[in-house]
Amino acid sequence: MNLLRVNLDAQVITKFKRRARATKKEVLGRLIGTQKGDEFFVTRISYPKTRSTASWVQEQKPHARPRNCIGTLHSHPNERFSFVTPDDIKGSVLDGDRVFGIFTWWACGEHLDFYSVDKLVMDVVER
Ligand SMILES: [Zn+2]
Repeated sequence: MNLLRVNLDAQVITKFKRRARATKKEVLGRLIGTQKGDEFFVTRISYPKTRSTASWVQEQKPHARPRNCIGTLHSHPNERFSFVTPDDIKGSVLDGDRVFGIFTWWACGEHLDFYSVDKLVMDVVER
């Protein structure tokens, strides 16, 4: 089985992390880039208008995504453990994500994990 791979622009992901850490709410970004075979290349993250509750963030207009949007990335603020909730998977399937990421962070640590909608854990490369 081939592992899918996500290639991230280091500056782009650093900005997302900073933005996520600046609030106790979930932050959502659209991953803009391309897919070549088993590899995704994220070149930009855009920030759509969202609806959010204390623990849940959602795009207001997922249907208005640009064509080169390959998926989403959102944060799980103040959590020690990295996990995917059933709502994360459901939301990604509904929105047509090819890949989705979760940035889990707490005071002195973090995890960044990516998944495809068929739940394969992905290899992440920052460069
Ligand atoms: Zn989530």
